[in-house]
Amino acid sequence: MLDKVVIANRGEIALRILRACRELGIKTVAVHSTADSHLMHVKLADESVCIGPPSSAQSYLNIPAIISAAEITDAVAIHPGYGFLSENADFAERVEQSGFIFIGPKPENIRQMGDKVSAIRMMKKAEVPCVPGSNGTLENAPEENLRLAREIGYPVIIKAAGGGGGRGMRVVHSEAALLNAISLTKAEALAAFNNGSVYMEKFLEHPRHIEIQVLADGKGNAISLGERDCSMQRRHQKIVEEAPAPGISEEQRKKIGKRCVKACLEMGYRGAGTFEFLYENGEFYFIEMNTRVQVEHPVTEMITNIDIVKEQLRIAAGEPLKIRQQDIKIEGHAIECRINAEDPKSFVPSPGKIQQFHAPGGPGIRWDSHIYHGYDVPPFYDSLIGKLIAYGQDRTIAIARMRNALDEIVIDGIKTNIPLHQNLIRDANFHQGGTHIHYLEQKLSS
Ligand code: ADP
Repeated sequence: MLDKVVIANRGEIALRILRACRELGIKTVAVHSTADSHLMHVKLADESVCIGPPSSAQSYLNIPAIISAAEITDAVAIHPGYGFLSENADFAERVEQSGFIFIGPKPENIRQMGDKVSAIRMMKKAEVPCVPGSNGTLENAPEENLRLAREIGYPVIIKAAGGGGGRGMRVVHSEAALLNAISLTKAEALAAFNNGSVYMEKFLEHPRHIEIQVLADGKGNAISLGERDCSMQRRHQKIVEEAPAPGISEEQRKKIGKRCVKACLEMGYRGAGTFEFLYENGEFYFIEMNTRVQVEHPVTEMITNIDIVKEQLRIAAGEPLKIRQQDIKIEGHAIECRINAEDPKSFVPSPGKIQQFHAPGGPGIRWDSHIYHGYDVPPFYDSLIGKLIAYGQDRTIAIARMRNALDEIVIDGIKTNIPLHQNLIRDANFHQGGTHIHYLEQKLSS
């Protein structure tokens, strides 16, 4: 097993990684900014190193500082968590060149999946279903692009190959707007991502977001852990996730899971990963692959009884995957609510000191969070302060447990989006299951 791991992240995921390391007897090094010396995992880690001022650019994104921290503490590996440097191929490369293990995929796979055009090309090769669209980057050929859009059928969406975080996309409803939209998206993509390549896809109007979790060891073994439904979103940010996805049959799960596994094997993928799909009229359409652990991984852990972070650590240590596809049994239902420090109506971030904190509990309740009584939520980072996960033998029980837990939890001193979740967990359409990705925004604006 790995001897000592640097946790190159903060907040709940840093604590989640620390807990997994502890279970496996791995020593931990917390690296943190000057604003984060009171983080729970910094207090619990075997060692901690301050790597810079509050600004992420100078701390959690500071590659030389993180690598130096690994050097001075004699660590053997670096876990990037999610966000920050987790999908930065240059970082993964630098980590490996400096003689450390990067807990994640090979840099070339991160790079390949980070460019959506090359990701889609790879997926098509592995027979993963993709959104009908251009075969690769759009050329500067107006007639050809007009013909292509006509063939796909309006509305279409123009997307930046290097885009991320829901940026670099433009929906086009009619032929008159197409060429201008392509030029604008190209210019924006060049400015924002230093990559002016764009491609075209059919715009799906009311899809659901369904994603497949995979684990692979880079040694010829890969498995799929079923799907998650993350359709409850606001501004492309997921708010509630659940597994399994309502209405997805065992047969559909097996079929799409097999394709994702095939893609992993073909690219020699290593580590945890997620294939994101839009799902409409019974069909899956690949949109992108995330080459890291995701915020919503706990719902899959609850229904499969597999610890995804521990598997990441074992894979990074060079162990072959011990779990076989036939061992994966999906049992029960899990829902996750992302608890953010923000105004529940205006969504304005609400940093500050937590004056009162009472954790929820009872059967099937999991609370993944770094907060504690007296903790001061800094204003510099993402507003996620905890993930409340409810598990039950079926979806009805999971919903009931989540409702109870949301009514029990007390976080005072700052505003949180708990009232929004309390409202959603009582929503009749959510109860029915299978709402599309625009549902939450429509509900909020009505
Ligand atoms: P990012 O990397 O920026 O998250 P994605 O490709 O994952 O980009 O797309 C983000 C979101 O944009 C999707 O979750 C979906 O809401 C919307 N979207 C992207 N492609 C399409 C499409 N072809 N049709 C409809 N919506 C889309």
